[in-house]
Amino acid sequence: MSASRIRAKGIKLSVIISAIVLLSVAATFAFNTLVGYQTQKRSLYNNTLDLNRITANEMSRTTNTIILSMKDAMKTAAAHFADSYDNEKTIQTEMDFFQKSVPYFNSVALVNEQGRLAARSPEKKSVVGERLVSDAAQQALKLKTPLISEPYTTTTTKRLIVLVSHPIFDSTGHYRGFIAGTIYLQEPNVFQNILGNQAQTENGSYYYVVDSSGILIYHPEMSRIGEKVTENPVVKKIMTGQNGQTAVTNTKGTRYLAGFSIVPSVGWGIVSQTPASNVTKSATEIVAHMAAISAPLVILLLLLVIWISHRLTYPLNRLAYWASKFNRGEGVAPAIPPAKNWNYEANELYRTVSEAFRIMGRRTQELSLEVNTDPLTGLANRRFLDAIVSQWIEEKVPFAVVMLDLDHFKSVNDTYGHQMGDDVLRFLAVWLNSEKREIDYGCRYGGEEFTLLMPYADEEMAFLVAERIRLHMRDEINPIGKPVTLSLGISSFPYSAQDAASLFGQADEALYDAKQNGRNRTVIYRAEKGKSEPQ
Ligand code: GH3
Ligand code: MG
Ligand code: MG
Repeated sequence: MSASRIRAKGIKLSVIISAIVLLSVAATFAFNTLVGYQTQKRSLYNNTLDLNRITANEMSRTTNTIILSMKDAMKTAAAHFADSYDNEKTIQTEMDFFQKSVPYFNSVALVNEQGRLAARSPEKKSVVGERLVSDAAQQALKLKTPLISEPYTTTTTKRLIVLVSHPIFDSTGHYRGFIAGTIYLQEPNVFQNILGNQAQTENGSYYYVVDSSGILIYHPEMSRIGEKVTENPVVKKIMTGQNGQTAVTNTKGTRYLAGFSIVPSVGWGIVSQTPASNVTKSATEIVAHMAAISAPLVILLLLLVIWISHRLTYPLNRLAYWASKFNRGEGVAPAIPPAKNWNYEANELYRTVSEAFRIMGRRTQELSLEVNTDPLTGLANRRFLDAIVSQWIEEKVPFAVVMLDLDHFKSVNDTYGHQMGDDVLRFLAVWLNSEKREIDYGCRYGGEEFTLLMPYADEEMAFLVAERIRLHMRDEINPIGKPVTLSLGISSFPYSAQDAASLFGQADEALYDAKQNGRNRTVIYRAEKGKSEPQ
């Protein structure tokens, strides 16, 4: 198998360039998206932590103010009730007034120094006179100081409450018991008024409050209030008196970004927190949005690159095309049409290959001329004659053949020398060329024999031309100083012969007849004997 038949293997340069660019753009895009995502996430994480810490601080400050205000209200009430304590007629009205004017407590109670309930608002006659047994009440009686209790469940109503109490001393300094306000933790209360409005925002953020022993005082999920959550790392920090911010996995296994702050007056901790998943989701949304905005630009860029790589490799493809065409032997070296390419290298390569092709083309032409030309006469040679005859026969081009042979040429050589003989041959070639039609081919068949090939000519046309040549040779003075005559035989395809061998056989036979009949004449081959010669 010849090299030219082997199909070129390998990937096109434009495909390779496009693939490299595609890969690098895709990698950059993916990398940017990933980095963008990480950066966004980190920044959102930090912002959310900061925001929660600031919010927890704010809430803590507000709660502290309210608690101080509660204590003040209790102190004022204690002073007031110290003197009006024994007036049974007015005490209920005053208690009601107190409960309504101070908006912090679900109920208020007046307790005597024996720990028995003296009055309550809202009024509840059935419990008046009852002895309070809760730890908070016992502690208030015992310590005789202002107190805020831990959450506890009342024995009678089973309510989870916080008790805020203040001792009562009369004007003589005698201890008379205490006044107490209760906050029902699992019912609408003061904390819900402060924190409840933003219980759970759209992004899943919420607050909760623990007391200093880690019990939930406030939580948007009411059922969890009273639960001890000391395992929670944030609560642990609160219990050691820290403020701050942290990412945390809560007791339910959910990850949160939390800010937390201690309420100084009571040691409670307020926590503001946002689910981490929410931040991740926001980061994903932001990055997806950014990617969606830049995607059309990236696609446009890629298309541009593919187009540019096509433009850059186009000259190489074209050169490859021309070269392979030349390699397959389609035509002589092709003249590559001129083109202005983008890059210097392509233009240089183009110019060089074009020049190489041009030189090759000229050389090929020269070679083919050398191969097909008889050096002595400049006529076409036998090789050319054979080729064109078989082509015409194959293509069924009708044509006539005239065979020419100089008469007694041997004696010309013998008398005037071989050199002079050659001059005579050249002399004949001149007449052959001047008398043939434009489209005819004059050939040197070999030695002193010549052939005239006349496409689309019948035998009569061939005879006319043959005779003109013969008469010139008969009448014109030769290089030897006198005419040298010649004999001619004619045959034709496909009228007379149907293949090259018989065609030349017939022309030869006619020529032989011309010689036999006295030379210096033209004979047309006739199949039947008694060949004729038109006059
Ligand atoms: P006829 O009339 O029968 O053709 O006689 P003839 O002498 O021409 O006989 P023939 O055709 O047999 O002779 C051919 C001669 O042509 C023989 C040879 O010396 C001469 N000849 C062949 N080629 C060349 C050539 O290239 N140059 C020269 N000068 N002579 C040649
Ligand atoms: Mg001869
Ligand atoms: Mg001869």
